[in-house]
Amino acid sequence: MMITIKEVAYSLENWAPRAVAESYDNVGLQVGRMNTPVSGVLVALDLTHDVIDEALEVGANLIVTHHPNIFRPIRHLTDMSYVPGLALRLAESKLAHYALHTNLDNARNGVSFALAGLLGLRNVQFLDQKEDVLQVLVVYVPEAHAESVQLAMASAGAGLIGNYDACAFSSKGTGYFRPRMAAKPFVGTEGKLHAEPEIRIECQVEKWRLHGVLHAIQSAHPYEEVAYHVFPALQPSQNYGLGAIGELQETITLDKYLEIICERLKTRAIRVVGNAEMPIKKVAVCGGSGGSFIALAQRSDADLYITGDLTYHLNFEVLDDRGKPRMALADVGHYESEWITEELVVSRLIALQPDVQVHRTRHSTNPTRLYIRKY
Ligand SMILES: [Zn+2]
Repeated sequence: MMITIKEVAYSLENWAPRAVAESYDNVGLQVGRMNTPVSGVLVALDLTHDVIDEALEVGANLIVTHHPNIFRPIRHLTDMSYVPGLALRLAESKLAHYALHTNLDNARNGVSFALAGLLGLRNVQFLDQKEDVLQVLVVYVPEAHAESVQLAMASAGAGLIGNYDACAFSSKGTGYFRPRMAAKPFVGTEGKLHAEPEIRIECQVEKWRLHGVLHAIQSAHPYEEVAYHVFPALQPSQNYGLGAIGELQETITLDKYLEIICERLKTRAIRVVGNAEMPIKKVAVCGGSGGSFIALAQRSDADLYITGDLTYHLNFEVLDDRGKPRMALADVGHYESEWITEELVVSRLIALQPDVQVHRTRHSTNPTRLYIRKY
């Protein structure tokens, strides 16, 4: 049986949940039907007419891009302007379009982690961890069932901390209850207070996984009524955040590193603040338009911050009172900082859905080019 768009979406969202996308964003299936079987996937940074032509050519009926095509509400589905024109062509050609945008930016091993890896950074961490993602779940289980309930919770995604899963803490105690008239108790007798040796299991759960975890508990737990609590957790998530920060293997000068960046990002120009000899070891990156995180990179003691789309006045933010850069700043370009996303999504899709044909676009979807003066 062929895999459906829904199954592809589900596996992508397990990695980059829609719930961690920024509030202004528009991610997920933009055009298409969830139950359509997938004949192939074409991955690109942006949706363009070239990408649509290519999907038709290679027989892929699902296009996965980083940038959404429909970002703001559209008022007409006509060929009179670019964005609705693309959407119309997709629908007419029976092609589906799925976008994985700031949810992938905010995921561990997402866009910025891939960029950091490409640029040779080690010990990579989030530049800033996302808050308001976690809840603490506490559940009480009779001793003999504690392990099976804990495993069921872990299988549903409870207790993910960084590179570890199934993280939980348990303690012993006594659960008390008195079965009422209509009850069908697993242990205990109607009308009599019962004391049962129980295990209290507590773990952290990402908000959007709570429903599935509670369902898993209900299935594995022997009691008719399961006692549990859910609390908001104030600690930031280890698994979601923005940007990335890491270290080069050894300190090198800014211009030597810029040369490496040009080579790795396949670009010929970088707009930069900082003199040629500045020593660079700790580097922060943010794929796309990361201008609003300059202060964050400085607070993290980065020697250099690499992103795209910096407006002119932002460049002054890294200067000290004498006009000397406290941190170097490199604007590599939006497309240049994010094309690695295509490779990232392709490799993840192949791993998640080995039966689906996955292609990476052969086009650069960047509508601009660098004009370099020929001396
Ligand atoms: Zn972008």
